Amino acid sequence: MMINIIPYSTTFCFKGASHSIIINTDKTKVYRFENTYLQSICFNLSNKVIPSDSDVFNNFLLEEGMHFEAHERDASLFLRSKERSMNWHEANGDIIICLDKYTALNDCYVKFIEAAYVAGFNIVQIQLYDEVNTIEISKFIRKFQDMKLSFEILSSAIYSNEQPLIDIFDEFRSIYRLCFFSSGKFSSTFDQYGRVLEYVDTPLSMKSCGNISSKGFVPTRRFITLAKNANSCLYNKLAIDVRGCIRNCPSMPMVYGKIGESYFEDIIKLTHFQEVASIRKDDIEICRDCEFRYICTDCRAYINKPEEPNSKPLKCGYDPYSGEWSNWRNISNELTMMYYDL
Ligand code: SF4
Ligand code: SF4
Repeated sequence: MMINIIPYSTTFCFKGASHSIIINTDKTKVYRFENTYLQSICFNLSNKVIPSDSDVFNNFLLEEGMHFEAHERDASLFLRSKERSMNWHEANGDIIICLDKYTALNDCYVKFIEAAYVAGFNIVQIQLYDEVNTIEISKFIRKFQDMKLSFEILSSAIYSNEQPLIDIFDEFRSIYRLCFFSSGKFSSTFDQYGRVLEYVDTPLSMKSCGNISSKGFVPTRRFITLAKNANSCLYNKLAIDVRGCIRNCPSMPMVYGKIGESYFEDIIKLTHFQEVASIRKDDIEICRDCEFRYICTDCRAYINKPEEPNSKPLKCGYDPYSGEWSNWRNISNELTMMYYDL
């Protein structure tokens, strides 16, 4: 009877134009191979059985703890259960609130967040682009203490309100991350609950978002299923800029409404809002041929051809056809850089 090699349900394999990857989501590890090396293997590995005809490959999977062997009849049962386990459970939603010293964090914001929470949005990221009134922030977070909302606060260390923000972080367990940008150092301190106080030296700026690098890949089952079904950055994401304008993210140009004038329920139903949030990596030119497509964030705010919504993220220097990385600034079109003022 034929023996089949079956990847565990935590093993995923994706083929690109020149390279392929095998992901062990248990260990969040990614292994990359040239396609030529894998040619002898039936490499539709995105969750299929691999016939046991390559000792090298089988040994590799075995050593990394990513496969088991089964007789043919058991293999088909396994595959059915694996297909079920790939069913998509929709991702949580997050809302980004950008504040400067002119933004009034009033009840309109509270009502908006409450409506979003009912719809499953349970993460609020507060980005501080000025020295803002920290008492207002503390009052705002206190209003949601009875909900299972998690907060993240991003601020710049160049503002002098560092200690009041740390006090807020200490006061509210619902804040899972406080990060100071432009701090001149890199450090992360975790508390007993896994919450993190972080310092980074990069600036907090809307223009600095969207950089694609292997360090940002997310090799988890949750992310893979999201990227297969929707936009891996903008699905269930909504941002309110410093003027109260509602967008997909702070860097996206389209404005769908304004805080105090628009209802959350109306905005998420808008066709354009949903269209952007549903662009998958498989819809994007070049990315659809990339082995990293299901573990890579998809930036739609900065793209190679601004007039073509399905073009590749601008800030990616990877070429899936050659398998080489370069600095995205060196290979980007000058006009596109000027268009985005980068
Ligand atoms: S779409 Fe781009 S700029 Fe906007 S949040 Fe995502 S990565 Fe950042
Ligand atoms: S080509 Fe696309 S999928 Fe591949 S790394 Fe770049 S942005 Fe990500």
